[in-house]
Amino acid sequence: MAKIIDGKKISQQIKDELKEKVAKLKEQGKTGALAVIQVGEDPASSVYVRNKKNACAYIGIESLAYELPEETTEDELLALIGELNAKEQVKGILVQLPLPQHICEDKVIRAISPRKDVDGFHPQSVGAMTIGEPGFLSCTPAGIVQLLKRSGAEIAGKHCVVIGRSNIVGKPMSLLMLREDATVTVTHSKTQDLASVCRQADILIVAMGKPQFIGKEYIKEGAVVIDVGIHRDENNKLCGDVKFAEAEPVASAITPVPGGVGPMTIAMLMSNCVQSIEEG
Ligand code: NAP
Repeated sequence: MAKIIDGKKISQQIKDELKEKVAKLKEQGKTGALAVIQVGEDPASSVYVRNKKNACAYIGIESLAYELPEETTEDELLALIGELNAKEQVKGILVQLPLPQHICEDKVIRAISPRKDVDGFHPQSVGAMTIGEPGFLSCTPAGIVQLLKRSGAEIAGKHCVVIGRSNIVGKPMSLLMLREDATVTVTHSKTQDLASVCRQADILIVAMGKPQFIGKEYIKEGAVVIDVGIHRDENNKLCGDVKFAEAEPVASAITPVPGGVGPMTIAMLMSNCVQSIEEG
């Protein structure tokens, strides 16, 4: 039976640590706000935005909500980001993705000052992470590293196979695991014989966006399995990219969905905000 890696509990620990840190920073006169921008009313985005505001309130930092109508133009959004870049009190700027089709996400991401890029998506943040310089780390991959470390999984020297090479999960994930001294293999839709590559993994990180795709034939006995996927199954229940019931008896440790990687993303966003306040 695998150990269940409890993302809810670990993210709560991190938020409690951050809450203490925020209180100490306040005593030193260091405060700041996170600006959260949502364009349109996508229901999933509204839930994410609400969770982010609640997390800010919990750790004791201010959040400024900008709820813009669907028909907001790219220029209007870029102008708002420009204003927020210039505001001293705003220490983090987050634009909830996806954006409506008429707005170029790349342009918007690049418009955010790298000093306030708490999502870690700006090319400068990605570059800094790649060469090991200080900067904001992409939240989901950074959260996964924390899950592994805080649940006692060894990373250094282990073979980590990452399924997926997206800019927000797969690629930064592989770079962070390399930084943690894992031996890393990155796989994608053109990888041949994915199952045999995955069976070599001591740590298997699955971020492919395919509901319940990864069964026991992809998992080495005793591997640590991290499931990044989030989907709704035919009964409207949340599920991941991994067939949990099959994987759990084979793995030594595994993240559930929900309650695994998901809560860590917001905790790491809060961590980036606190880092930004600390840096002034
Ligand atoms: P994405 O942009 O769709 O990328 C999926 C990746 O998986 C691509 O690199 C793709 O390869 C690869 N892939 C797809 N089918 C494959 C196959 N049959 N074999 C091998 N590789 C395959 O997705 P994403 O944004 O990285 O997100 C992945 C999942 O994580 C989604 O379910 C998403 O909802 C979830 N997610 C969760 C969180 C969280 O906080 N828990 C955060 C972000 C994302 P190609 O590059 O060759 O197309």
